[in-house]
Amino acid sequence: MSGETLVQQHPMTSQSDSVLSNPFDADSFDAAVMSTYGRFPLALERGAGCRVWDTEGREYLDFVAGIATCTLGHAHPVMVEAVTRQIQKLHHVSNLYYIPEQGELAKWIVEHSCADRVFFCNSGAEANEAAIKLARKYAHTVLEIEQPIILTAHSSFHGRTLATITATAQPKYQKNFNPLVPGFHYVPYNDIAAVETAISELDEGDYRVAAILIEPLQGEGGVRPGDVNYFQKLRQICDETGVLLIFDEVQVGMGRSGKLWGYEHLGVEPDIFTSAKGLGGGIPIGAMMCKKFCDVFQPGEHASTFGGNPFACGVALAVCQTLEKENILENVQHRGEQLRTGLRAIAAKYPHHITEVRGWGLIDGMELKADTELTAADVVKAAIHQGLLLVPAGAKVVRFVPPLIVTEKEVDTALQIVDKAMAAVTA
Ligand SMILES: *Cc1c(COP(=O)(O)O)cnc(C)c1O
Repeated sequence: MSGETLVQQHPMTSQSDSVLSNPFDADSFDAAVMSTYGRFPLALERGAGCRVWDTEGREYLDFVAGIATCTLGHAHPVMVEAVTRQIQKLHHVSNLYYIPEQGELAKWIVEHSCADRVFFCNSGAEANEAAIKLARKYAHTVLEIEQPIILTAHSSFHGRTLATITATAQPKYQKNFNPLVPGFHYVPYNDIAAVETAISELDEGDYRVAAILIEPLQGEGGVRPGDVNYFQKLRQICDETGVLLIFDEVQVGMGRSGKLWGYEHLGVEPDIFTSAKGLGGGIPIGAMMCKKFCDVFQPGEHASTFGGNPFACGVALAVCQTLEKENILENVQHRGEQLRTGLRAIAAKYPHHITEVRGWGLIDGMELKADTELTAADVVKAAIHQGLLLVPAGAKVVRFVPPLIVTEKEVDTALQIVDKAMAAVTA
């Protein structure tokens, strides 16, 4: 994507524009910043609610929300107030001391989930690393497994550290980074027989399955919801064998699914789960929650310098309290229904190009037919031309993850733009 020209035909501007005429100097940016990302040729500089503006003053409806992160949208008064208050009071002290905001946030999470206790870090990958370490220590000290194995699912996404790319069962994230971390094994998603086979076949000598790390709904892997029967069977297997059930709720958690946690859609509770993206409303924070097995780590066995600092926790607590106070989950449910209904109507107009619309709440995907040339990136680019930000989830799925405060009118506008974008890419 990087380096391509994106000719703007934006409804907000009279003349069409290309990024090349943009005063933002992408060349000098690229000369100084490492080329780890394929960027769309846009430079964003301001936001309010579900809208963002680029350096040219063009307005976009934001259905990306910093990749399922800006829970309350941009420049929400609650966040402005919380950020300002906390930076003026105290922002960082380290975990050498008690941090009241950290305790308050942990209490909120414990009261609003199946968790008994929380560990704080700064990102989703780190939260999953913490869960992997906890599972391994549990395996060694409680299950007495010398060589514990963690099962993860094909098309999963768990982060970009070495352990979490190993957990991520997608070759494109692992290529050229071997040797990977030992102790992971992959199974197809939503396939219970594969889990049963793996657990029995991997039980050999010092080796045994100790944990299953899985997303209740696969986000990056194409917005694929978990199957209720599959997850209930997983829970049953874990109860019978002592294998830990770990849910990666980094993307689907914190209200995005229309329930606070993705597992609430599946009628089961995990032993451990992780959160990050939406938790701080866009301020970096990650968390690992555990039920029962909270005393596995002893002081000094796991840590994070920034993790749980007053700033991140103060802001995240304000986000959590606002979700609750303003009954935002109800909005997520209604806007999600509206979005999927509208997308299905669009899908019906393009039966040769769209196969399915699926999702929970405000994490939704529109899958394109495998046998056409059309990619999710093509649709995303066409939508950007029309003033709507979207993000692919894999090559063939267009993902919709707006701020959870999105209005009925904004969803309508987004649907109109998707319709126009589909018309443009199929013309
Ligand atoms: C984004 C994501 C991660 C990684 O989070 P980072 O904050 O980028 O490290 C892990 N798991 C899931 C399900 C995600 O969507």
